[in-house]
Amino acid sequence: MTHEIPALRLEKIERRYAQADAPLEILKGANLDLWAGQSVALIAPSGAGKSTLLHIAGLLERPDGGEVYVAGAPAASLSDDARTQLRRVEIGFVYQFHHLLPEFTALENVMLPQMIAGLSRKAAATRAREILDYLGLARRADHRPAELSGGEQQRVAIARAVANGPGLLLADEPTGNLDPKTADHVFGALAQIVRATGLAALIATHNMELAERMDRRVTLHEGLLFELD
Ligand code: ADP
Ligand code: MG
Repeated sequence: MTHEIPALRLEKIERRYAQADAPLEILKGANLDLWAGQSVALIAPSGAGKSTLLHIAGLLERPDGGEVYVAGAPAASLSDDARTQLRRVEIGFVYQFHHLLPEFTALENVMLPQMIAGLSRKAAATRAREILDYLGLARRADHRPAELSGGEQQRVAIARAVANGPGLLLADEPTGNLDPKTADHVFGALAQIVRATGLAALIATHNMELAERMDRRVTLHEGLLFELD
C-alpha cells in the first residue's frame, strides 16, 4: 500500500550547540520519511545525535534549520502552543526510563493523557483498560509503577504513549535498561502495537538483534541519516 503523506518527514534537519570556539554540529541536514504502519530502528553510537533527532521529531526541541512535517503539516515554525497541541494528538513518546507517575496506578497513568486531551474519565478508563489488556497487562491495571517489573513498567509506558491514538511513536532506547529477555518482550509489544494500529514508529536502540525485527534500519553518521542494509 502506498501513502502519499508520510507520518513523519524530516527535511534537511540541522542542529548545533554553541561552544567557546566553533559550534558543535550535531545534525547537518538529516532527511527521513517515515510511513504509517512502519517500524524503523535508529542505530548509532552514543553521542551520534539520536536523542536530539527524536526530540526534534517529537516537537520537543526546535531544529536550527530544516523542517519537520507531522502528518504532512510543517511544524518547525509553529508557536509553542500549536506544537504542544500537535504533539498531544499525533505523537507518543517512550523513554529509556518509564517516567510513569508514581502516585497513580497503571490504569490512571494511561488515562491521564486522554483526559488532558478532553476525554471523559469513563471513556479514558475504558480505552486504557483495552490497551492494557492488549499488552497483556490486564491484571496489572490497578498497580502502581513501583509494584511492576521493569518490563511491565515499559509496557505501561507504551500503552500511555499510544493512548491518544497518535500517528507517530518515538522511542529513545526503550529497552536500554532491561535484561535481554524482558527487552525482547517489550519490543514484541511495540511491534504488536505498530501492526495493530498502523502507526509509524522510530525507535533508537543499541540492540542489533531487536533492530533486525523492525521494517527498516537507519543510522546517524556525521549528522546525516543513512538507510542500513
Ligand atoms: P545520542 O542520543 O545518540 O547519544 P545525543 O543526541 O544525546 O546523542 O547527543 C549528541 C551530541 O550532542 C553529544 O555530543 C552531546 O554531548 C551533545 N549535546 C546534546 N545536548 C546538548 C546540549 N544541550 N548542549 C550541548 N551539547 C549537547
Ligand atoms: Mg540518547
